[in-house]
Amino acid sequence: MSYITLGIIGSGQLGSLLCQAAKKLNIKTVVISDDEQGPAQNYSDQFIFSKYDNKEKIKEFIDKVDLVTYEFENIPIDILKGINKKKRVLPKPDINQIIQNRKLEKSFINDLGIKTTEWAFIQSADDIKKNEKILPGILKTNTLGYDGHGQFVLNILDDVKKDWYFTTDYILEKKVNLKKEISVIITRFLNKESYIYEPIENIHKDQILKHSKIPSNINQEIFKQAQVNAKLIAEKLDYVGTMCVEYFIDQNDNLLVNEIAPRVHNSGHLTINAFNISQFENHVRAVCGLNNDTVQKISNAEMINILGKEIDEYRGKSFGDDEFFFDYGKKVIKDKRKMGHLTTLK
Ligand code: ADP
Ligand code: MG
Repeated sequence: MSYITLGIIGSGQLGSLLCQAAKKLNIKTVVISDDEQGPAQNYSDQFIFSKYDNKEKIKEFIDKVDLVTYEFENIPIDILKGINKKKRVLPKPDINQIIQNRKLEKSFINDLGIKTTEWAFIQSADDIKKNEKILPGILKTNTLGYDGHGQFVLNILDDVKKDWYFTTDYILEKKVNLKKEISVIITRFLNKESYIYEPIENIHKDQILKHSKIPSNINQEIFKQAQVNAKLIAEKLDYVGTMCVEYFIDQNDNLLVNEIAPRVHNSGHLTINAFNISQFENHVRAVCGLNNDTVQKISNAEMINILGKEIDEYRGKSFGDDEFFFDYGKKVIKDKRKMGHLTTLK
């Protein structure tokens, strides 16, 4: 019997799935979120609706929990650090500070000797001109991006419009001629041991994950290297919890890190049904200081993300024994919004 209460910042599907994993481990959850309708409130023991800069509500949250984790990385860093002074935040806020900033993130990865796509830090149209050799490329906001938000394709210099104001910092990345995308999910524990799930193959549509599967169709060398890199990154960050490394594989089989997610990840949803211990359970175990139980694969699997109005069709369907439909219970259907997923064991 455990008496831990875990605080979770964010109330989307990742928060919901973390709450469900915690329940299985007898760990209580308190979710804080600025989304009054966040679906995680249906699974948490308590829910606090608040803006993240509301000091009173944050104090109420801190007082209720033993430690804190988060389902998304774009939490203002000062707030995360403030919470960490009172109750331990895992993964550590310092890690989040690096990863929520593409420039710091890419520099950190490159300094480990791990390849990313060629990139440059951009603050003006002139900076793009100076880095013309990177084109065709993708301009991404340096902070606060998700699901392709804040990304602009630049094929030629003329795509930089004269009336653009550079009010924020950007990264310009070379556009990779993709052969494949894969991700590696790793959970690292307080005792410094880690479990690395096998690489997952991902297909994105309009920059949003649409489909994931295991096994991924890659050679042994890439399989190993992808896991070795993830382990090195987790160790250098002294990471505790579940983390995801997203990779590009180009036409010449170069393995390039796209980005790191310092949290459980959409591509790992299939671990709920394909493994005895999911990325969510492993995350909760790791941050709460539980032991790392033996992880076993149960089956190959495929996962489809259900976006926007597609959910209506799934809500009326019946499913086979190998199919696991997750409805996130979001009240408002928006175009391209992640509404649910379906995992099929193969
Ligand atoms: P987000 O932070 O929104 O997840 P990503 O940088 O991971 O954004 O980009 C989302 C998707 O867009 C990637 O998974 C990939 O399919 C595509 N993409 C992003 N950057 C590149 C690139 N430099 N070359 C080719 N495709 C890219
Ligand atoms: Mg991504």
